[in-house]
Amino acid sequence: MMSYDVIVIGGGIAGLSAAAFLSEAAKVAVIEAEPHIGYHSTGRSAAIFIRNYGNETLRALNDVAARFFETDTQTLTDPVLSPRGELLIAKPDELDALDAYCAGATGLERLNAQEACDLVPILNPELISAAVYEPDAQDIDVDRLLQRYAAVMRANGGQIITGQPVQGMAKMGAIWTITTDLDRYQAPVIINASGAWGDHIGQMAGLRPLGLQPYRRSAVIMAVPDKMTCAHWPLFGSINEDWYAKPDAGRLMISPADADPIAPQDAYPDDLVLAQGLYRFEQATTIPVTRPLRSWAGLRSFLPDHTPAVGFDPEVGGFFWLIGQGGYGVQTSPALGQLTRDLVLAQTSVLSEPIIAALSPNRFHA
Ligand SMILES: Cc1cc2nc3c(=O)[nH]c(=O)nc-3n(C[C@H](O)[C@H](O)[C@H](O)COP(=O)(O)OP(=O)(O)OC[C@H]3O[C@@H](n4cnc5c(N)ncnc54)[C@H](O)[C@@H]3O)c2cc1C
Repeated sequence: MMSYDVIVIGGGIAGLSAAAFLSEAAKVAVIEAEPHIGYHSTGRSAAIFIRNYGNETLRALNDVAARFFETDTQTLTDPVLSPRGELLIAKPDELDALDAYCAGATGLERLNAQEACDLVPILNPELISAAVYEPDAQDIDVDRLLQRYAAVMRANGGQIITGQPVQGMAKMGAIWTITTDLDRYQAPVIINASGAWGDHIGQMAGLRPLGLQPYRRSAVIMAVPDKMTCAHWPLFGSINEDWYAKPDAGRLMISPADADPIAPQDAYPDDLVLAQGLYRFEQATTIPVTRPLRSWAGLRSFLPDHTPAVGFDPEVGGFFWLIGQGGYGVQTSPALGQLTRDLVLAQTSVLSEPIIAALSPNRFHA
């Protein structure tokens, strides 16, 4: 039986960021079901940081994360962000959506069709009524970020245990015992960072589900025509988020921006969904769709209000929720990891009280 101050269930970006920050002051273990960390959603993202993405609470987290990415030198020995930009285009019947996206956003430039095509020459100008450009959007080196969290945690004496799905959980007095096929582990605090399995782990601990729903999102890699260079293009897509594309090592990653509700699982793409998304991409651009070189799918797991749940369960002591990161879990990971540390160690957070309340799992028990 191994004992820790904190056990984190889930070796994705959420679990490892929390573990890295907590390991500064606590003995931490991460238990991951798969043979290696980052296997599920974290290893399948579009790897972009968009400051204006998400609701007001998410944008507050994005601001804290941006400060971390810009100024941290302890966790990040090398930068993990690099310039990319994001361009969203609107057809005549999508101008309301464009206005809604701009409301409350900062650092956006409104462009006309020609200006949009100057940035991404394969766009069809006849189908663009207006566009919005966010020059500050940046690529995230997700693997480097994940590995840095892991390295910091290990350097602080933390342990990452892979290949052991948590099978059971029980609380005696103030101590939780976690059971896997191979071992048993004890700690007074359990952090549920199990991604799409968040409600499943909650139920294993005897808690009511919060209403987490995983949605599948897919992507393909496609070559661009010979002699075309796309490396400097921004991420580009429709304002209604029914497709988007992003340069990826000289090719394009194209996503149908699908959001089909499915049960937690090792997600894989649906050919019809990919074909429909590629059709929408083809309609908006001037290049032919060719045979995808690779495809994949991952899960974006949302709570009903599209805001993560971060905090101790109000009914069962020592059980901490860190779920519902949706499509923003990589970019918000420094903010949510630091908030988790501050709440677990009863420290002051840089986030305001209303933002902490908006993230609290208490909202599901009101
Ligand atoms: C196609 C796509 C594009 C995306 N693009 C972006 C983007 O550009 N920017 C961004 O910020 N976010 C993006 N996201 C969202 C982002 O990937 C997620 O929000 C984030 O990875 C969630 O991290 P996580 O650690 O909560 O989940 P995961 O990475 O899924 O980690 C959860 C871990 O818990 C483990 N686990 C589950 N049950 C158990 C158990 N019983 N015992 C032990 N371990 C268990 C799982 O094996 C898993 O490894 C995208 C997602 C997808 C699918």
